[in-house]
Amino acid sequence: MRKVLVGLGLALLLVISVLLWNTYTFESKQLKDVPPAPPIAVSDSAINHLSRSIQFRTVSYQDASLTDSTQFQAFLSFLAATYPQIHAKLTLERINDFGLLYQWKGSNTGLKPMLLMGHYDVVPVIQGTERMWKKPPFKGVIEDGFVYGRGTLDDKSTVIGVLEAVEYLLSTGYTPTRTVYLAFGHDEEINGNQGGRAIASTLEKRGVQLELVLDEGGTIKTDGVAGLKAPVALVGIAEKGYTSLELTARGEGGHSSMPPQKTSINVLASALNKLQQHPFKSSLKGTVGKMLEYLGPEMPFGQKLAIANRWLLEPVLISIFTDTNAGAASIQTTIAPTILKAGIKDNVLPIDATAIINFRILPGDSVKGVLEHVRQAIDDPEVSVRTLGEFDTEPSPVSSPDAEAFQLLHRTIRSCYPDVVVTPYLVVGATDARYFRNVSNNVYRFTPYQLNDQDLERVHGTNERIEATTFKEMIRFYATLIRNVAK
Ligand SMILES: [Zn+2]
Repeated sequence: MRKVLVGLGLALLLVISVLLWNTYTFESKQLKDVPPAPPIAVSDSAINHLSRSIQFRTVSYQDASLTDSTQFQAFLSFLAATYPQIHAKLTLERINDFGLLYQWKGSNTGLKPMLLMGHYDVVPVIQGTERMWKKPPFKGVIEDGFVYGRGTLDDKSTVIGVLEAVEYLLSTGYTPTRTVYLAFGHDEEINGNQGGRAIASTLEKRGVQLELVLDEGGTIKTDGVAGLKAPVALVGIAEKGYTSLELTARGEGGHSSMPPQKTSINVLASALNKLQQHPFKSSLKGTVGKMLEYLGPEMPFGQKLAIANRWLLEPVLISIFTDTNAGAASIQTTIAPTILKAGIKDNVLPIDATAIINFRILPGDSVKGVLEHVRQAIDDPEVSVRTLGEFDTEPSPVSSPDAEAFQLLHRTIRSCYPDVVVTPYLVVGATDARYFRNVSNNVYRFTPYQLNDQDLERVHGTNERIEATTFKEMIRFYATLIRNVAK
């Protein structure tokens, strides 16, 4: 008995030693001693330009007939008038009329070009919510150090910020060694087919391979992430895929006074229930694993210990992730029933009962894999499963945080925002960046604005606004990034 106890004690001691060893040797991945980026002279005219850009109602509607192309045309005239050097020295191609591809030729065409992208269309202001806006959504009001309006965050600040940076660099006589492309889509908020997708396929047809692509996606979250209090720069290295399935249960119909044992609604409900009981497997590998490698060493002791010892504590970490919807979405393919249809009258049994279920697919899973998982989980010949297909998108490839392009991005972030913790992460929504998978291995999704949790709710919401100083720092960031990558 004593021997057993001694043995157990020794084993426990060994485990504790390993846990502590892993924790203390869990090294920070943050680049150290990065010299601060040189400040750049950004005048208040940049703020005015952002304000004016908001005044064009470049709204993307699901119903394309509502789109007002005169607003898009006027926005382009505004750009030409506001950025004279860019329009004199860069070439501009218009793809499908309103998609913009600028090329700033580098002195060494042997180097792979870099590409900065954004979109200048915005989502509509939901009817009836205009009055909830403290400032009108399309006036671009500048007040109390903020610029207000639809698009100040998503995503005109990127488009205007990049253009300001390039115009500034041109004014200093800078010429890039590496060619720089700027790509601005005009329909990202509906599907990006005419803008981002067409621009990417134009480059692909020309055989262009890019060293780095930077699109919107992550931000600098000033409220920290998962217990880490420092501001965190979330750099998207992948985005989830997308598919929707339709489940149909067929019954006999008839009068509701003598219902059969199983109606179409019962069958469908039990299929939905089974699906809920069979979630996709959660995984801390892949993109989230990379994030843990970057965030872990910066965490308070307890979390650092858990992350450093995933070999033992993975189940604990998974349960922490699945505690929040956002956390769960980042470690598994999600299942979201969104539409249910059955029946037309309270005393008539419906023949068909259907459900639409939307899935956001984790890198590593696939559209086909989702279909198979659902069929197996439901395992009921009375329920047919078919894919809606229209918007099917495979998850993006994962861009490596070990690539030199990522390290340059990391360095640029640390040089402009020295207190920020940089981490790769998984984008759970969709961006135009997904179309660039064939033209670059290094596709990153990050906008250098510093936002707290409330600011993030303003994206696509009411009272969207950006702090003027934040916007000026974005311009400095883009200018620094071009200098660092295009040299
Ligand atoms: Zn956007």
